[in-house]
Amino acid sequence: GVEHAQPPTAWLAGAPQPASRPHASHKGSWGDVAVIGGAPGMGGAALLAATAALHAGAGRVFVGLLDDARPAYEASQPELMLRAWDSLDLAGMHVACGCGGGQAVRDVLPRVLLQARSLVLDADALNALAAVAALRPLLQARARHGEQATVLTPHPLEAARLLGCTVAEVQADRLAAAYTLAVRHGCVVVLKGSGTVVAEPAGVPLINPTGNARLASAGTGDVLAGLVAARLAAGAAPFQAAAGAVFDHGLAADRWPQGEPLVASALAGRGFWSRSGP
Ligand code: AMP
Ligand code: MG
Repeated sequence: GVEHAQPPTAWLAGAPQPASRPHASHKGSWGDVAVIGGAPGMGGAALLAATAALHAGAGRVFVGLLDDARPAYEASQPELMLRAWDSLDLAGMHVACGCGGGQAVRDVLPRVLLQARSLVLDADALNALAAVAALRPLLQARARHGEQATVLTPHPLEAARLLGCTVAEVQADRLAAAYTLAVRHGCVVVLKGSGTVVAEPAGVPLINPTGNARLASAGTGDVLAGLVAARLAAGAAPFQAAAGAVFDHGLAADRWPQGEPLVASALAGRGFWSRSGP
């Protein structure tokens, strides 16, 4: 027969096994997450990611706000440790960067890319990567390092900016778009939206079967970034961390009660705990 060129075969993800939390574990067993973002007027995005990481079982969650005014959120989220971003020692941390980052994220990214143990880049961190060519070798250096995993979580517009193409071109072949970004940057890539694709440079991409259009509202992407960071902090391999977080995020939306609005702050605090773990 005639051989047609085929896109890479994709797996539909099955339900990941819920992880139990070993009885003798302590907060150090579950890792430190730092969320760096929240430029002026966008503090909510960083807090959503941080809250999601906390509710997904991260041992400790720091927030490095890119806002000198640092609004006083402590009272509403006493578990989160709010710091000036440059006072955080990122070397051992699992960092999510870019949620509500604004332009300020460009100045912090060099240090974040160099130091973070594992790293989730979302939103304005991805826009910075697309705009500032000098940042990309730092991403490549992380890929060569081997122990500094990076997960990119673009929505289709962010992916189009990174690829230098149109959103329509991304959407026309989502598997190829995610896979191309994964190979180019040496990262795990989560291409968000209906039928989220998770790709890595040397593996078969996966299409996530959970989730629905109730997730199409402000802040749900920030929640996902926090969930990925929490799984990385718990020791999951980057592809498994991304795939598991995407699955849980979508499953929570699929199980969301009818008649109850699905807003990101409610999603961030809902029901991820029991499923978290590597
Ligand atoms: P963002 O675009 O960064 O705000 O992220 C939105 C989040 O909601 C991502 O995790 C998307 O995959 C998810 N999402 C948005 N719309 C849909 C949809 N129609 N079906 C499934 N997931 C969706
Ligand atoms: Mg987003």
